[in-house]
Amino acid sequence: MNQVPNTLPDRNRRALLRRRLRSGHVVRPPWALPEAVFLENCTRCDDCVKACQEKVLMSGDGGYPEIDFSRGGCALCGDCAEQCRAGAFQAPPRKVESAWTHRVSIKSNCMSLNSVVCRTCGDVCGEHAIRFQLKVGGAAAPLLDISACTGCGECIALCPVQAIQVDFSEIDHLGGSPDA
Ligand code: SF4
Ligand code: SF4
Ligand code: SF4
Repeated sequence: MNQVPNTLPDRNRRALLRRRLRSGHVVRPPWALPEAVFLENCTRCDDCVKACQEKVLMSGDGGYPEIDFSRGGCALCGDCAEQCRAGAFQAPPRKVESAWTHRVSIKSNCMSLNSVVCRTCGDVCGEHAIRFQLKVGGAAAPLLDISACTGCGECIALCPVQAIQVDFSEIDHLGGSPDA
C-alpha cells in the first residue's frame, strides 16, 4: 500500500486539533496515541481503515481515521494498530483496558428508565457491564459498571432510542489521561 504524504499544513493540523479538543466527539481507533501525537504521526494512508473487518473505522475529518459507533461496535481485534507503519498507535502489548480513555453512559431517555421493558444493551454487552436492577412497580433499571466497560460501543447502535452515548468524562474516574 502506498503511503500518502502527510501534507496537511501545520496551521490546519493545529486547527483540527483545537476543534477536536473542544468538541471531544471523535473516537480514534483503539490504542491510538494521544490526539496531538496521533495527528502528528498519522499519514492518513487509510491502512487501518481497510484492515477493520467490523467496518466501524472510517476516514473522518481531514482524512484521519475515526470510529463510527453508529455502524456497530469495535471487536478490539487490534488489526488496525497492527497495520499502522507510522507510529500512531501504542506499542504492544495492547491491553483492552488501555484501548481508550472513553467509556459510555446511559441517558435519561432510556426506555427502561421510563418504565418500558428493554434489555437490549445488557444482552449485547459481552463484558456484562450493564445489569438490570429490579424496581417495584416498574421496568428494571440499567446499571452500568464503568470498571467493566471497555468502551467497545457495541451497545450504542443497538439501543432502540439512542440512549447510550460515548462518555469522555469517565477519564478521571479511570485514572487515565485525556486524549490531548
Ligand atoms: S480493533 Fe479491530 S474492530 Fe476495532 S477498529 Fe480496529 S480493526 Fe476495527
Ligand atoms: S493511523 Fe496509521 S494506518 Fe491509520 S491512517 Fe494513520 S498512518 Fe495510516
Ligand atoms: S461499550 Fe461498554 S457497556 Fe457497551 S457493550 Fe461495550 S463494554 Fe458493554
